[in-house]
Amino acid sequence: MSAANGPPEGRSEPDPNESPRPSAARPAPGEAKARGPLGAKADDEIDGPLPANDDPEAVLLHADKPVASVDELRAAMQWAFENEDITPAALDRFAEHARLVLLGNQRMNLTAIVEAREVAAKHYLDSWRATRLLPLAGRSVLDLGTGAGFPGMPAALAEPQAKIVLLDSTKKRIDFVQETLAAMGVTRTTATWERAEDHLAKHRYDMVLVRAVSSVRENVRLLRKVKHSIKDLLMLKGASWSREVRAAEREAERLGFRLDTVWEHELPGDLGKRAILVYRAPGSQGS
Ligand code: SAH
Repeated sequence: MSAANGPPEGRSEPDPNESPRPSAARPAPGEAKARGPLGAKADDEIDGPLPANDDPEAVLLHADKPVASVDELRAAMQWAFENEDITPAALDRFAEHARLVLLGNQRMNLTAIVEAREVAAKHYLDSWRATRLLPLAGRSVLDLGTGAGFPGMPAALAEPQAKIVLLDSTKKRIDFVQETLAAMGVTRTTATWERAEDHLAKHRYDMVLVRAVSSVRENVRLLRKVKHSIKDLLMLKGASWSREVRAAEREAERLGFRLDTVWEHELPGDLGKRAILVYRAPGSQGS
């Protein structure tokens, strides 16, 4: 597996704002939604809806609010991870990274979650728990629609040996993620600006992680042409996961995605229920 950094397929200076690329084929009927906007309804409870574009007003969204200090973020991480088997060093790394995300959020729209404990639980604990379910070591991992770097960055920070590709179709966000990788000294994980459907036509992965991109049904539809490039598809979901699974049932079955495991977990401080869905994808056959 390899992943190129920088603009995909020779576009020298693309529109910095959004995902649709001139080379992309016209979406088939029903496909546009799958490529569609940030924070699809089903995932609103993970992070409030963000605008599809980094519109100028959004840039000012958090600029007037003070950003939590690294010390505050470290204390919040200790609170969120109190019952977890994780090293203090990893929590320090999370706090440092969280500070970069919150600072970045003042100049571009990265997250609606800005309160320290919420950041710790909803972004870091939620992301990290996915790494407890299936070990990342020795497996090729794609974070599809990483946004500001979730769930892939917490996974990469907690497991420096993991090789993760953080993928997003919005160049601004990938530029930001690349900055954070460099600032945090993470070298095995890379960030790539490309659409998932294009990227997966060229690269195969053992695991694809998806959080807050679209509903289960739309995610599965998005991946229908590249389903053989994936072994395990992990979706990080909120409390309404079972409704989403039901709504996706026929489509998933038709396309050969089989729901293997559901792990329900709770965030501390009544911050909500979450679930990790593991679908075995067609790429797992014969391996
Ligand atoms: N996973 C992150 C970000 C969610 S926002 C989190 O949980 O916080 C969804 C992100 O998916 C956006 O940054 C958007 O640009 C990206 N995205 C949407 N469709 C995509 C596609 N087809 N390929 C790659 N990225 C996509």
